[in-house]
Amino acid sequence: MIKFGPAGNPEAFYEAGYKHTYQIMAWLHEMGLNAYEYSCGRGVRLKEDTAANIREEAQKYGITVSLHAPYFINLANEDPEKFDKNIEYFAESSAAAKLLGAQRIIFHPGSPSKQERSVAFARCKENFGRMLSIMDEMGNQDMTYCPETMGKVNQLGDLEEIITLVNLDERVLPTIDFGHLHTRGIGAINTPEDFDAIVQRLKDGIGVERTRKMHVHFSKIEYTAMGEKRHRTFDEEGFGPDFAMLAPILVREKMEPTIICESKGTMAKDALAMKQMYQAAL
Ligand SMILES: [Zn+2]
Repeated sequence: MIKFGPAGNPEAFYEAGYKHTYQIMAWLHEMGLNAYEYSCGRGVRLKEDTAANIREEAQKYGITVSLHAPYFINLANEDPEKFDKNIEYFAESSAAAKLLGAQRIIFHPGSPSKQERSVAFARCKENFGRMLSIMDEMGNQDMTYCPETMGKVNQLGDLEEIITLVNLDERVLPTIDFGHLHTRGIGAINTPEDFDAIVQRLKDGIGVERTRKMHVHFSKIEYTAMGEKRHRTFDEEGFGPDFAMLAPILVREKMEPTIICESKGTMAKDALAMKQMYQAAL
C-alpha cells in the first residue's frame, strides 16, 4: 500500500496543544495519513519508554514509522576511527528503530571533503558493504537501510551513486528525495518527463520490485549554484518540484512507495495534499 506522512512534528501539531511525539499517531490517522519519519538527525537520543509509547500508538493507528539516522554519518571518511563512529550511528539507529517498530533506516552516504569524488565514492561503497555485514552480525538482518539522494552538488548521493549502493545487497532500498535531485541538478525536474526518466532509470538500475516499494522524500526546495539551499512549503510560489507531475506516474507504474514530506513546518498538511493529488490521479 502507498503511504504518506510527515518527517517529524509539524507546527500545526504543537499549535493544537500537543507536546509529545506519541500523540501524533492519532492526529495523523485523523488526517488520513499513514506514515511518519522519526528524526535522529542530530543524534539518537530516544528513551525506551518514550519509544514504547510511540510504537504502541503507531500500531494502534496503523502508522508505518521509519527512522532518519544521524546526519554525521559519512561513509566516505578515510579515517578508521570515523568508521567506528559510523558503526555506532548505524547500531544506535538500528536499536532505536527496533524500539519504535520501524523497519526502514534512512541515511546520508557522506561527502568527499578533500578526496577526489570517485575515490570517495569507492570508499563509501566499500564501507557500506562492511557496514551491512557488521549490522548483520549485530542482529539487524531485518532492518532495511535506505541511502538517500542528496541535494548539494558536492555531497555523495546522485541517482547513479544511490543505484550502485542499493545494488550491494538485495535488502537495500533507495530513498529517492525528488527535491534533492531537483536542487543538485540546479532545477532539474520541471516536467512529467523529468520524473519519468528517474523512475525508468530506477527500474533499469535496481529492478521493478524495489522501485515500486522505494522510500521517497518530497518537498519543494530552494537552490543556488551549489544545489540545495532551504526547504520550502507547497504554498510558497516559485519553487519545485511539483508532485502533481509525479502522481500519475506512480499510478501508471503501480508503485507503492512510502512518501515522506519534509516541507518546512507544514509537512503533514503537504503530505495530505500529495495524497489527494495521488487519489485524483487514480
Ligand atoms: Zn535526509
